[in-house]
Formats: sequence, structure tokens, C-alpha cells
Amino acid sequence: MLIIMRSDATPEQIATVIELVESFGFRAHIAHGVERKVIGAVGKGQQVERGVFLQLPGVERTEPVSTPYPLASREFSRLDTIFSLNGFQVGGNEVVIFAGPCSVENRNYFLETAIAIKEAGAHALQGGAYKPRSSPYSFQGLGEEGLELLAEARQITGLPIITEVISAEQIPLVEQVADVLQIGARNMQNYPLLRAAGESQRPVLLKRSMMATVEELLMAAEYILAAGNPRVILCERGIRTFEPATRNTTDINAIPVLKSLTHLPVILDPSHSTGYAEYVLPVARAGIAAGADGLIVEVYRSLGEALSDGQQSLQPEGFAELIRQAKAVSQAMGRSVAAPVTAYPVPVAPARVLLGTRT
Ligand code: PEP
Ligand code: MN
Repeated sequence: MLIIMRSDATPEQIATVIELVESFGFRAHIAHGVERKVIGAVGKGQQVERGVFLQLPGVERTEPVSTPYPLASREFSRLDTIFSLNGFQVGGNEVVIFAGPCSVENRNYFLETAIAIKEAGAHALQGGAYKPRSSPYSFQGLGEEGLELLAEARQITGLPIITEVISAEQIPLVEQVADVLQIGARNMQNYPLLRAAGESQRPVLLKRSMMATVEELLMAAEYILAAGNPRVILCERGIRTFEPATRNTTDINAIPVLKSLTHLPVILDPSHSTGYAEYVLPVARAGIAAGADGLIVEVYRSLGEALSDGQQSLQPEGFAELIRQAKAVSQAMGRSVAAPVTAYPVPVAPARVLLGTRT
């Protein structure tokens, strides 16, 4: 149930409603940034008549929740969720661009790419230290060594770090380095992982499974929101269809559909959704034109040589061109690409000290 407060409701009146919601065994979530505070009573509580809330001072009305993802829904928050990430905003009018190699492989190559994408104007650096590979014999990532390199790249470039977690147990370690925890397509329905990410203080980039509907993606996001983490970015990364010409099929429809169903930021990954570097730019342009709040793009120093996803990775010059084109399309859409990150506001300890697991 959603409890919509009057616009002049006092903090005390809101607190009374929350107390009552919790006394029935529900968890109370407040929609932020809306003119009228909306309190979502979610979870398995006792059966309760809406009249119980209607009689409280400050309550305007109640509404039943019509979706299986109440907290992610537009009914809960008509205004977009916007949050700050190291000096820029995600989900606002400005388009953000995240980039980096699929996996962190080697110090020199990684730092070289990190510096190049920073110079091109990227807002965050992605790189996997733990890779969920389809084959157990493929490169699985450098693990802790990869995390150390990510921390070093952040110190050098000032870019916030996005990196994947593939199990709930990994979160305490990975969040020491990650500014954003990535949950990949293969783990979109790993419910213990979603719950654990919901308890983290870090924003979560949740990628749509190649086999999931939009509704399933939103229910996965709901796990994170229900566990208390409101900072979720959704990512369309292509779905599996009968078409073999590309690795996946970009569900461009999902962008306006998600923007209509949810208040959460929505970004597009044109790298995994196409699978080939030559298609990344046109599909990236389409994503921004369709209303995406950002892009996440794989970049590697050379074509086809990366240990994972080489064929779909842009080289640094291609990425610089993508940024130029993203600016032009954003402008045509009445938006702009966020200003480049200038400095990392939080001093970062050296990587080895940070992880505290090595001497
Ligand atoms: C990745 O980002 O490298 C990745 C594995 O993506 P996805 O989870 O979308 O397949
Ligand atoms: Mn990849």
C-alpha cells in the first residue's frame, strides 16, 4: 500500500505513519524528492484496512500497489531518482558515460586505457576483477589483484570505479574499492546477491539478464530497494533473440518502457548488446535518442586482443568519437553530456593498505 501524505504534513505526522506501518509488520520506505511524501508499506505485514491510515493527521489518501515492484514503480515516485556520484549526477538531465575494459588484465594496459578514457571525458571507469564467464576455462579475472589495480586507477584518474560482484560474500571486499557495485546479467536473479547489494551503501548498477523481461528486471531492482538501498541504476544490455548477426539484440524499446514504469536511472550498454565494435556507435546514439540517462561502453587498447569481449571493445580513439557523438545527440534531445570529472573528492589510501589483505 502507498500512503500519500498531504503536502503540508509535518515530520511528526510522517513519523507517526511510519510507526504505524511498522507496527503492522511492514517496512516503511519514503519516496525522496517528491512534493508530497509517499510512504510505501511493503513486505509481509498483517492485513490492515486503509481506513486505519486515512484517519491519521497529515494523510491525504492511500493507494493500492498495482505492480509487483512497488518501490521501483512510478506510482511510488513520479519524479526521477537522481543521485550524485563523485561530482556528477546520475538520472538527471545530463547524460553520463561509463567506460573501461571488460576485465582488468594487466597493470600497464589497464592504466593506459583508464587515462585515455578519462581524457576523452568519461565519468566513471569500469573494469571487472571477478568475471562471470560462460566457460569455466575462460579468463576469470584477476580477483584481488584486479581490485588493487582499480584502486590505483582511481587514484591516478580521479574516476569513480564500477566493478562487478558475483557473490554476496564478495561485497565487503569489493565495496572497499568500488564506487558502484555492478550486478551482471548472469546474476540478475541471484536473490541473495541482490539482497546483500541492497544492504550496501554503494549504488548498484543492475544489468538486465539476456533472458529476462522488463518486469523481471524491475522485480530484481525491487530486491535491492526493499533491502534499503535506493541508489539503483538499471542497464539494458541486449537480450537473446533468434538473430545471430549480433551477439544480442538491443531492446531499444526497453529504454522508454523503463522510463515510463520506473523512476530509476536507465542506461544502455551498446557493447554487450551488439557484440561488435563497429555497431557500438550507432546503437549508442540510438540509446541516447531513446532517452537513456547514460551509456556503459567497453574500451580496450587494441581490437580483438582483450582476454574477454575483445571484439566488442572500442579503441580509445573510437571512444573519443563516441563521446563527441553522444554530445551531439544529447543536445538534439535537449540534454547534455555531464562535464568531465575533474577530481576525486575523497582522498584514497594506497591500494594495498585499502584492501588490507596483502603485505
Ligand atoms: C560485462 O560487463 O563485462 C558483462 C559480463 O556484462 P553482462 O553482465 O551484461 O553480460
Ligand atoms: Mn564484457
